[in-house]
Amino acid sequence: MIVVMNPGAGEQEVARITDKLKKMGYGVHLSTGENRTVIGVIGQRREEVAQMMEAMPEVEKVVFISRPFKLAGREFHPDNTVIRVGDLSIGATEIVVMAGPCAIEDEEQLIQAAEAVKKAGARVLRAGAFKPRTSPYSFQGLEQQGLQFLNRVREKTGLLIVTEVMDQFTVDEVAECADIVQVGARNMQNYYLLRELGRIRKPVLLKRGLSATIEEWLMAAEYILSGGNYDVILCERGIRTFEPYTRNTLDLSAVPLVKQLSHLPVIVDPSHGTGLSGLVPAMSKAALAAGADGLMIEVHPNPQEALSDGPQSLTPAQFQTLIKELKGVALSVGRLI
Ligand code: PEP
Ligand code: MN
Repeated sequence: MIVVMNPGAGEQEVARITDKLKKMGYGVHLSTGENRTVIGVIGQRREEVAQMMEAMPEVEKVVFISRPFKLAGREFHPDNTVIRVGDLSIGATEIVVMAGPCAIEDEEQLIQAAEAVKKAGARVLRAGAFKPRTSPYSFQGLEQQGLQFLNRVREKTGLLIVTEVMDQFTVDEVAECADIVQVGARNMQNYYLLRELGRIRKPVLLKRGLSATIEEWLMAAEYILSGGNYDVILCERGIRTFEPYTRNTLDLSAVPLVKQLSHLPVIVDPSHGTGLSGLVPAMSKAALAAGADGLMIEVHPNPQEALSDGPQSLTPAQFQTLIKELKGVALSVGRLI
């Protein structure tokens, strides 16, 4: 259930209620909005507790949440969540562009990609050091050495870094390097990993699973939020359907739907969503029109020679053109890029 406090209730009043709830064994999460505080209460549903809360003068009302996701839902947090990373705000007016190669291949390739995406206007560099590859015979990523390259590129370019973590054992080392920690589609339901990510203090970019329903995706976010990490960014990256002409089917209707259901920022990855670089510009524009808060786009200095995901990667020149074209689309939906 959620306990909606009166608009005038201050910290002391909120603490009085949360202390009572904790003493009864409930988990308590606070959402402090502009006008009022909402307390998310996790635990057994009990009418008498709700009645007791409702009788308190500082409480406006108590609402039972019937959906299985509680902290990820709009009822708990009616305003959009804005996540601050450095001087960047994700989920505010600015469209956040994360771009870079699928995988870090060597330091030179990473620097070239970083400089190119920065020049075009990206604020965040994406690049995988740990790669979840479908085949064990494919390039598996540079792992720790890749993280070192990312640290150096951040120092050199000032770009923020988003990079993938593959398991619960490497959360701390990846989180130390990354400004945003990425959970890949294949790991969306790795609950040990999600639990570990609930305890870190870095934003998590949670990709939608290959065949995950929206509810399963939001429940995965709920794992992270319920661990106390409230900075979750959702990323729609296409789902598996019967259509083989594209690598995945980019579910853009998920964007406005998830924004109705949840307060979390939503970004779109048209690269994995289509698998084809020629479709990335159109789907990027469509994503902004659908209300996405940002884009994650693969860019490689030389896509033909990429060790992974070359066919869906833009060249630096294509990326630069795309960012220019996106400005008008962003403006038309009241956003800035
Ligand atoms: C990636 O971002 O490179 C990646 C592996 O994406 P996904 O998990 O969406 O397949
Ligand atoms: Mn990729």
